[in-house]
Amino acid sequence: MKKDLEIPAIINAIKRSLSPGLKYPVGLHEPNISGNEWNYVKDCLDSTWVSSVGKYVDKFEEMIAAFTGVKCAVAVVNGTAALHICLRLAGVEPGDEVLVPALTFVATANAVSYCGAVPHFVDIEEYTLGLDPRKLEDHLQQVAVIRDGCCINRYTGRKMKAVVAMHAFGHPVDLDPLVETCRRFHLELIEDAAESLGSFYKERHTGNWGVLSALSFNGNKIVTTGGGGAILTNNPELAKKAKHLTTTAKVFHRWAYYHDQVGYNYRLPNINAALGCAQMEQLPKFLEQKRALAERYRQSFSGIRGIKFFNEPAFARSNYWLNVLLLEDDYADRRDALLEATHEAGIATRPAWEAMHRLPMFKDCPRMDLSTVENITSRLINLPSSSFL
Ligand SMILES: *Cc1c(COP(=O)(O)O)cnc(C)c1O
Repeated sequence: MKKDLEIPAIINAIKRSLSPGLKYPVGLHEPNISGNEWNYVKDCLDSTWVSSVGKYVDKFEEMIAAFTGVKCAVAVVNGTAALHICLRLAGVEPGDEVLVPALTFVATANAVSYCGAVPHFVDIEEYTLGLDPRKLEDHLQQVAVIRDGCCINRYTGRKMKAVVAMHAFGHPVDLDPLVETCRRFHLELIEDAAESLGSFYKERHTGNWGVLSALSFNGNKIVTTGGGGAILTNNPELAKKAKHLTTTAKVFHRWAYYHDQVGYNYRLPNINAALGCAQMEQLPKFLEQKRALAERYRQSFSGIRGIKFFNEPAFARSNYWLNVLLLEDDYADRRDALLEATHEAGIATRPAWEAMHRLPMFKDCPRMDLSTVENITSRLINLPSSSFL
């Protein structure tokens, strides 16, 4: 007979991993405001430059570019807006298809819809929890034909324009084979790096592989501006277009109001950027603290039956944005009991996102076999991961 999951032992292991003297309940991921946040925001208020022009926006963009090693960063109102602009500038048009992982936050698929395009769902691999480049390659061999340099879905007749790789919970996707597949099938690569600020694939920061990449600075991310995001690109021409498109496509002039296309009001306000500058100063400290917490979880969970702490892939250095516990297949039916018991103990946990193809607005979208997504979502739990824990 199967032995039951040792839920009390798991809860004890979580508590042992967290700092003693911590106040319960413990949240899943909370902002850490312990640097120059008050100073910079006050300075911003004193200057009255609180809106979308000001020195903190420029400074914040410089800090992001310097940290990630990406040439250009354009700050925007949130990560979803960043993704929307990435897709637009990668050439995604109404009626196109964009390949996205079925396991992601809904923003990835929503941004595709904002372009009038259709998400086409791809399976993940257990080793990274992100898009599986080998399964994508096999799938494209089946469904794609190249006509006049365009990748066409032979079943829907639609153009497939791009792939969005999402670095789930901060763990980088296997980018090298993915870049190869995108090249072979004439697909633009975009990285949804919303969760992976501070995560590196083979010594290079995530966000450097896509033609364009998106970051998020929402309240639950490793660095927050309250709400915010950024578009990353190594192509200065695309960065210029991103800035233009997110600034209502207004042509610069001292007094004239002239717009040369339908643009968006997506620029990040200076007051949010002030918060962001103070947060970026602390990013190396946050990363260290989060790695140490992941290490404590790893040690506390070792030897407990039925569970596995998720480790970064060998080719990556992850920011461990949200720590992941995987139940073994035999214990997937105990997931909800574990979620209940941890909440009862004042420990915020949560299951993986509902897979995209199970949401009503995406249920009829094209997709490949999604067995790994189905399997992983049934047995994944996120653990408290704030940097100060
Ligand atoms: C947070 C997040 C986003 C963007 O979210 P915003 O709240 O719009 O900043 C996009 N994709 C993923 C995977 C995310 O986790």
